[in-house]
Amino acid sequence: MTLSVLSVASEAVPFIKTGGLADVVGALPAAVAAHGARMTTLLPGYPAVLARLAAQYPAAPPPANKPKARGKAKIAADAPAGPPPIHHWASLLGVPARLLAGTLDGTPDGPPLLVLDCPALFVRDGGPYGDAAGCDWADNARRFAAFARAAADIAGGAVAGLTFDLVHAHDWQAGLVPAYLRFAPYQGRHVPSIMTIHNMAFQGHYGADIFPALGLPLDAWSMHGVEYHGGVGFLKAGMEAASAITTVSPTYAAEIRTPHYGMGLEGLIVSRGHRVRGIVNGIDTTEWNPEDDSAIAAHYTWRTLPKRAANKRAIETEFGLDSDDGPLFIVVSRLTWQKGLDVLCECIDHLVGIGARLAVLGTGDAALVAELGAGAARHPGRVAIRIGYDEALAHRMQAGGDAILIPSRFEPCGLTQLYGLAYGCVPVVARTGGLADTVIDANIAAIGLGAATGVQFSGVTYAGLSQAISRTVDLYHRPDTWRAMQKSGMKSDFSWSQSGATYASLYNELITETL
Ligand code: ADP
Repeated sequence: MTLSVLSVASEAVPFIKTGGLADVVGALPAAVAAHGARMTTLLPGYPAVLARLAAQYPAAPPPANKPKARGKAKIAADAPAGPPPIHHWASLLGVPARLLAGTLDGTPDGPPLLVLDCPALFVRDGGPYGDAAGCDWADNARRFAAFARAAADIAGGAVAGLTFDLVHAHDWQAGLVPAYLRFAPYQGRHVPSIMTIHNMAFQGHYGADIFPALGLPLDAWSMHGVEYHGGVGFLKAGMEAASAITTVSPTYAAEIRTPHYGMGLEGLIVSRGHRVRGIVNGIDTTEWNPEDDSAIAAHYTWRTLPKRAANKRAIETEFGLDSDDGPLFIVVSRLTWQKGLDVLCECIDHLVGIGARLAVLGTGDAALVAELGAGAARHPGRVAIRIGYDEALAHRMQAGGDAILIPSRFEPCGLTQLYGLAYGCVPVVARTGGLADTVIDANIAAIGLGAATGVQFSGVTYAGLSQAISRTVDLYHRPDTWRAMQKSGMKSDFSWSQSGATYASLYNELITETL
């Protein structure tokens, strides 16, 4: 039997991406399809999403009874027609909205996509969560409550021809979906749900004053409902109401049972312990494969590693770095406290002092941008930084860097270390969350067994990270060992096959329970 699953998320590649969530949501449909689950993805209709969806529809033909228009009028006639709506809400928590349909990959048989077209909430200049200056939209609670309400309606059967066995909600933006399904289901139809936590640091916590606008009954206002410390907790609500909770690595699933990582929600995680699982993310090997990656200069496999050198030279040139025999460290990251990059800034002089170079790509905190910039200014030719979001450059850096630095204070799963492993860019990681689960430290035993794939360190401090950098430089200067580490990483299986099977079996379990 094919299961029908509605995946609800605020971002998914290739439509809209600010971080790893988008990679995972974009890859899940294919991952679970192989195990009998047909997944439909629901996204908010941000301008980028609507534009990409419109492009899936053929240009509108000129009206049959009129001569073919020229100039401007011709462009308008040939512009994508956009999909016809498959559902309307006259009032979705107070605003009109429509539902559009397409596919995730743009092919007619690709994984189904639904887009909530609600211009009042989602069509605006800026990012999915905030304006161009990085300030959160003031009405985010209302935006994502309406999104969740729409998801619950769809899951409950509001749209003719669409039925779902289960809802998979991702992060706080979809946190109210399980709450609507439990406290205000569409026509009383019960649908089981999973709440996946991609990052406990983002919880969607708002004041109690928003509660009346959510359209939930009063019994949802309780510690077992949406109430959280006197306000409304979106992620908390989802964790409370979902049939099961997952997070994105086994180590993170254990860590969030403690106050340090649970960030206030550890009690809830512990109390729902038998319902919490850690399922490690995979990577989309059609997008991230050095053998045929269209973004990189020289293609290679673990068998043809020397070809990688051309990619390293290309990165050196692109970043204006010296070319020499020493290692080139890279960083591809959101520039935030979570990622430990303030500690990396403290280590820059040490890194350069032992003959290494550093290329950074990222966006984020102004203070970190300034500190990294100061490091680059102190060490021209040795340290360089690119501020911005550039997917193709991220690929080129993984293909050309020798080692990727990920000194995160916490990391639910992390994808950049997985891309590093797949590309022979050795990950140097803090021992936390998914980083601990996916990188095998180059200790003597692991090197002896040929199993080492990277460097792990404990303690995101100057001492911890600078020692890890030194250890990596030493390993780099032992070419046989280094090459063996690169090969072990590249040969590892980080595809979705195992995790796709695990999700599909969880869906089956929950659906069977509900029957
Ligand atoms: P998080 O989701 O916490 O940001 P992950 O490691 O799970 O961290 O995922 C980050 C994703 O975003 C990866 O696909 C990474 O390549 C990408 N990424 C982060 N910053 C940039 C950037 N400045 N330019 C391009 N890609 C980036």
